[in-house]
Amino acid sequence: MLETKKIVQNFFKGKILWNEPMKKHTSFGIGGPALAVMYPEDEFDLSNLLKTAKKKKINIYFTGSGSNILVNDKGFNGFVISLSKSFKKIDILKNKVFCESGVMMGSFVKKCTSNNLTGMESLIGVPGTVGGAIKMNAGAWGMEISNYIKKIKMMNSDGEIIELEKNEIEFGYRFSSIKNDLIISSNFEFKNSNPENIKKLKLKASNNRKNSQPLKFRSAGSVFKNPKNFSAGYLIDKAGLKGMRVGDAEISKKHANFFLNLGNASSNDIVKLILLTKKKVKEKFDINLELEIKTMGFKEDFFKNEII
Ligand SMILES: Cc1cc2nc3c(=O)[nH]c(=O)nc-3n(C[C@H](O)[C@H](O)[C@H](O)COP(=O)(O)OP(=O)(O)OC[C@H]3O[C@@H](n4cnc5c(N)ncnc54)[C@H](O)[C@@H]3O)c2cc1C
Repeated sequence: MLETKKIVQNFFKGKILWNEPMKKHTSFGIGGPALAVMYPEDEFDLSNLLKTAKKKKINIYFTGSGSNILVNDKGFNGFVISLSKSFKKIDILKNKVFCESGVMMGSFVKKCTSNNLTGMESLIGVPGTVGGAIKMNAGAWGMEISNYIKKIKMMNSDGEIIELEKNEIEFGYRFSSIKNDLIISSNFEFKNSNPENIKKLKLKASNNRKNSQPLKFRSAGSVFKNPKNFSAGYLIDKAGLKGMRVGDAEISKKHANFFLNLGNASSNDIVKLILLTKKKVKEKFDINLELEIKTMGFKEDFFKNEII
């Protein structure tokens, strides 16, 4: 590892945090150390980093701002790469928007709406970066970010650029077919609207959010995807789990699909709540809940196979 550290330090222009606790980089405030958290300065930096990681067989994990990730307390034996510090360019020309992945959703929504472009209003208040939102196909109340994407630029694990048109990527409910590639930037196209309508839609969305979500506490948003015809929150509530606590982790009393870190919750506390919820909902409704949040530092299939 020392040799790799030297190699990386020799070429990398961006910021590196070695042996960095991931709890500082997740909205949950949970997670042990990663080998390094790295913020490439530009595409050249990123490409060299990915090539080195591949050559040295180092695991990599891309993050935006960690608002949809549960990280294991044992940490992650690899490089965590985020574009959130330097890939911040956003250009608007009439109804066309070019946006780099490190731009925060809040700025993106603000820029679009202040240019009288409609579509992003319901994502007001969604934390995270535009890159993370595209990977997750973030959405709210029937709208999804992919509705407005035209083209995406990515980098693969060989450090090469790939450009795909929207129709070459599959998007679904909190799903995109983008797997091992890092989204660098995207082109969007929106419709024009008038400021009054846009203001109304924004206000409606932020009121809905304030009324239904426990925004005062640390969380990663909805833990499970809504199964067909049901809301996961409703099923969790009806399974009697609202307010259930393990250590400092709690299933929110306000929105049962939000699991909260009330102070010093461990990943294990959240895992226990996840497994308990899956078990109870299966028993009561014969429905298998699927995780919406992403996980880091757990064995593949851990959440599918583990029973309590
Ligand atoms: C209070 C709260 C409310 C929320 N409300 C909503 C909501 O209404 N709707 C909704 O959809 N989500 C919601 N979320 C979840 C979360 O905010 C979104 O999924 C967000 O888009 C994630 O962005 P991020 O940058 O934090 O991604 P991260 O959490 O860092 O990463 C999420 C996933 O994206 C991948 N990823 C991140 N950046 C890139 C990139 N550049 N290229 C490739 N892959 C990448 C990661 O590997 C990971 O798999 C909420 C979360 C919170 C805490």
